[in-house]
Amino acid sequence: MPRLVRSVRRWLLVFAAAPLTSLGAQQQPIDWDKLRDETVQILADYLKINTTNPTGNELQTALYLKRILDREGIEAQILDTAELKPAGRANLYARLKGNGTKKAIALVHHMDVVPADTRYWAVDPFAGLVKDGYVWGRGALDMKGEGIIHLMAMIALKRSGVPLNRDIVFIANSDEELGSTGAIVFVQRHPDLLADVEYLITEGGDNKFENGKLAYYGVGIAEKRTFWQHLTVHGTPSHGSRPTKQNPVPRLVAALDKIGRYETPLHITPGVDKYFRDIARGYTGKQKQWLSNVKVALTDPAARQWILNDLYWNAILRNTISLTGLHGSNKTNVIPAEASADIDIRLLPDADPKQLLATLQGVVGDTAVQFAPLLAPKPPLESPIETEFFHAIEKAAHDRDPNAYVTTPMLTGATDRPTYRQLGIVTYGFDPFKVESADAQRGVHGNDERLSAENVGFGVHYLYDVLRYAQGTRVTP
Ligand SMILES: [Zn+2]
Repeated sequence: MPRLVRSVRRWLLVFAAAPLTSLGAQQQPIDWDKLRDETVQILADYLKINTTNPTGNELQTALYLKRILDREGIEAQILDTAELKPAGRANLYARLKGNGTKKAIALVHHMDVVPADTRYWAVDPFAGLVKDGYVWGRGALDMKGEGIIHLMAMIALKRSGVPLNRDIVFIANSDEELGSTGAIVFVQRHPDLLADVEYLITEGGDNKFENGKLAYYGVGIAEKRTFWQHLTVHGTPSHGSRPTKQNPVPRLVAALDKIGRYETPLHITPGVDKYFRDIARGYTGKQKQWLSNVKVALTDPAARQWILNDLYWNAILRNTISLTGLHGSNKTNVIPAEASADIDIRLLPDADPKQLLATLQGVVGDTAVQFAPLLAPKPPLESPIETEFFHAIEKAAHDRDPNAYVTTPMLTGATDRPTYRQLGIVTYGFDPFKVESADAQRGVHGNDERLSAENVGFGVHYLYDVLRYAQGTRVTP
């Protein structure tokens, strides 16, 4: 398409989608190619600030974001510098004001990144390199790239003068990768800043894109909860040459064997039910039939085996237990005073931690085996699907890929979403790009993390449309 025709078309599209009563001279068309290039540069500079956690250093990224927001005339505050430890950390909060007829939307990302082992990288992970059509660096995907897409979509809304019924709130947190203290401190200290927020997006979506083909747009409405346990058995230390009944190691091993063989019950949450029904369209014959009604399928041995053989499907259908850490004696000839094990338990959103613990204690059937939590489980996270925001995502997704669908895969990992959800905010995992699964698997917490310039451009425009559609068509009378 010739450039002129293309830009006129874009111009018309911006206006065509706007509420009828708000058409006015104040709205400015957006040059999307220019905005993409600007966003790539801003992301590259963001990646240059090393926020490896520990120790974070997020005050520097917060100052960087604030400078950009100041320049755009969007009020921003650096918060929690004294509360977040060690020194040099911060949260950032900004708000683009709308007319206040509807509640606000918050865009949340974390500024910290996991360590990068430079020995395995082809490029310097903190050079902010733009090469071969990609922005390279630690955090490009998890999740500085998303953060900058949040920032630039908000800025694009302001620059283009789209009338907003909902304020857009922008939050950048510290420490998601370790203790989540950034989000926790923010929610504890600033509930007032979140009081009018109805919807919140952050990481934890999952758009399935393989070999250049999009299977679906995945919106995270629920996630598993970590409920790690430390098991201990005490005994009497003695010499290994004289076996004794007071050896804690075999007692612990017997308990672990029972836990390892215990099968947790299957349970289908509403989001998981929808996910299976949605993906059924990609299958044929019996498998299509099974996925269309998982509840019934799980009563059929052949179907059940096929479904549970998929590690991901198995994990979203039940509480899972993985035996991971083991410690007995550090000398072959010494019976230790204590033997211990760590267990990685992941609860479904609606599971009761106390009940599962009681069940496991019953399975073990030995009061000498002591259970101690390694961390408190986060609040449950399951957000509703029938909302204006979810429908806005569906509309923006269908604009781009008319044949694609939006579904709700459950995240088996953990994010900061439950921390915000406990305030009653409808919280979604939303990834604003189509990253090849192979690229994501290699890059997220791995090596050569990168985001294509094409995806940067796609993401800003996609999120801009979602935010615009989520305003609804109602305007102030
Ligand atoms: Zn992350």
